Amino acid sequence: MEMQSEWEVRSGEKKNPVLLINGYSIESYCLPTEPKDLVRSLLDEGYETWLLEARLHPRHPSNDFTVEDIGKFDIPAAIKKIQELNKLSVKVHVVAHCVGGLSIHIALMGGHISADNIVSLCCSNSSMFFKLNASSLLKMKLPIVPIAMAVLGKDTILPLIKTSKVNLRQKVLKFIARLIPRYQRCTYDECEVFSGIFGCSFWHENLSASMHQWLYKTSVSRLPMSAFPHLRKICNAGFIVDPNGQNEYLIHPERMTVPTLYISGGRTLLVTPETSFLANQYMRLHQPGFRHTRVVVDGFGHLDLLVGEESHEKVFPHILSHIGLVEKGRHVVTGAKESKYSKEALSWSDDPFEDRKRVVISCIFSLKFLLCFLMLFMLLVSLLS
Ligand SMILES: [Zn+2]
Repeated sequence: MEMQSEWEVRSGEKKNPVLLINGYSIESYCLPTEPKDLVRSLLDEGYETWLLEARLHPRHPSNDFTVEDIGKFDIPAAIKKIQELNKLSVKVHVVAHCVGGLSIHIALMGGHISADNIVSLCCSNSSMFFKLNASSLLKMKLPIVPIAMAVLGKDTILPLIKTSKVNLRQKVLKFIARLIPRYQRCTYDECEVFSGIFGCSFWHENLSASMHQWLYKTSVSRLPMSAFPHLRKICNAGFIVDPNGQNEYLIHPERMTVPTLYISGGRTLLVTPETSFLANQYMRLHQPGFRHTRVVVDGFGHLDLLVGEESHEKVFPHILSHIGLVEKGRHVVTGAKESKYSKEALSWSDDPFEDRKRVVISCIFSLKFLLCFLMLFMLLVSLLS
């Protein structure tokens, strides 16, 4: 965990601290190449800002963990530390991305932290739901993750930098990853391997050249793979489940007493806007006394929501406004609006942001992917026989 200082100098009255939680293996908030990342945007607004580098972060990856471990151990420890260094009663704003968002929901709905410690929650491309596009879901339905884990063996941390030393098993996995179809190809080998495993996590045209280079030549040096089997169970269920695939969390909406903001990219990659749509409906239905907002940002896919060249103009204002309103005490909803919230949630109408064109593209892409998988499988069988 890292602490940025001097927030109190600029703010008259001390605001609640903010805890940022990264997605899988990629730093999304502290970006040295960008003139304005989310850390600096928050500091400029006078927030004490904390960045959690959990056990899936490339700086200190774990060889053996699940997504649940982050919600059960890492996040509670981070919040405890912030409270120790402030006062025990301090409440924290949480901003989380992708697997970080799944983890904070596991922490809250699993009862590992109390919502009494959280003053607001904002998640990008994640929530208690996790809906993938057709091609990413197909990848998760096929036995690719078990095959990849079997290929890797005991050493599950995959070095990504092209020049790093790899064993034969890691070499084979990287070779297979490069062959997997994806939306955009890249000249960086590291980007090719990473997007082969996850699928493209951003639209290249949304990133500055310096950001793209820093990401793959410096930041994402290692990919800890051991949480993939748990992540696969979550992806296939479409919502957070425990490592055994059991629905242990969604049954506890009473633990989610927080105002929320769920953000999706409107030009879908990996995770669809249905993720934020369902979360917003769920929260309005079960916690109508709190303010709940959902935003779909046009032109952005997944990670580019946070690391894009225009993120500080098009995405961060939503996050800062959500946190700012809570700081001003506008986080509760009362009377007529509360009952309107519940009625709207119960209607379960179609998502107005659903991008049907992209759904069709994703389905066509899935067929391409399935064909490639079958060819690879047949090649493997013929080599073994
Ligand atoms: Zn690339």
